[in-house]
Amino acid sequence: MRQFNFCSGPAALPQSVLLQAQQQLLDWQGRGCSVMEISHRSPEFIAVAEQAEQDLRDLLSIPRHYKVLFLSGGATAQFSAVPWNLFGGDSFRRADYLQTGHWSNKAIAEARRYGEVNVVATSAEQNFNYVPEAASWQASEGAAYLHYTSNETIHGVEFPYVPEVSCPLIADMSSNILSQPLAVEKFGVIYAGAQKNIGPSGISVVIVRDDLLDRAVAEIPRSLSWKVAADAGSMDNTPATFAWYLSGLVFKWLKAEGGVTAMAALNQRKSSLLYDFIDHSNFYHNSVALSSRSRMNVPFTLADNKLDALFVNEATEAGLLNLKGHRSVGGMRASLYNAVSLQAVQALVAFMGDFEQRNG
Ligand SMILES: *Cc1c(COP(=O)(O)O)cnc(C)c1O
Repeated sequence: MRQFNFCSGPAALPQSVLLQAQQQLLDWQGRGCSVMEISHRSPEFIAVAEQAEQDLRDLLSIPRHYKVLFLSGGATAQFSAVPWNLFGGDSFRRADYLQTGHWSNKAIAEARRYGEVNVVATSAEQNFNYVPEAASWQASEGAAYLHYTSNETIHGVEFPYVPEVSCPLIADMSSNILSQPLAVEKFGVIYAGAQKNIGPSGISVVIVRDDLLDRAVAEIPRSLSWKVAADAGSMDNTPATFAWYLSGLVFKWLKAEGGVTAMAALNQRKSSLLYDFIDHSNFYHNSVALSSRSRMNVPFTLADNKLDALFVNEATEAGLLNLKGHRSVGGMRASLYNAVSLQAVQALVAFMGDFEQRNG
């Protein structure tokens, strides 16, 4: 039986999408084989790919002067791709990075291998539990771009606004893309691994403004080049066809559910329900600054960490899966992506109340 799944990634997918994929698996469109057993260059698959792109463009109102790419290698490949694609222009080989947690740390470490990184602001001194005030940022002159992580999946910190900067703005949106409406035109590049809020692992979405496609370092590896990918319709080599198809089913599901506006309202309700419960309890605790709390990933601790294993075991038995926190921060984490229902969060809160009564 399917249970409520709070996994941080690869994360829960909508049940109706999985059922549809199951129904179509052996005999897709009456063609006698599955969608993952045909050429990516066939008209049939090209139609799947183009429809997915169009639906994503509709969902996020992506302007025409942006390319939408579907690439392999995960968000981690984009940590390398960003400097490779943007350090070859007229500006210095220098970029501004906001340091707000685990994932921005990884992006910074990778960019440092190719150029100079100026850390504009950091929340490291408080264990990454807030977004530094924009007034305190120290941007550099002539940076090729500014990079930030719009939602820190492990630390549970989310930017409540889009940064205003004078250079191209690059965002790792792996864990909050499609969770709310987005002003794409404020960005140079947006990228996201699919396995949090889009689809299965194996594919990433990169949304890149056309004028940034000619800034690559000359020696850029072919497989990291946005220009090469854009010119080839993301098919310079074989793409992750099944992941692309499944992401397309999720986009259709999102549209049917009312799109990102409906998701924003639902995500607000879900996360408020859990945060309100935690804040009214002396047993559970979330240490993220109120204004920086993530609507997608809610890390929390119990009053006594010796109860952690019991909590996870009993939750699993109660049909609430994958609540163990990331190994680097400990405690618990509930990820509340689009495919996690309000009922799932209600069930979680009811279980947490019961567990507190018995162990608090
Ligand atoms: C999960 C995650 C990544 C890493 O994604 P991979 O696809 O495993 O490379 C990067 N950034 C953020 C914000 C993430 O949540």
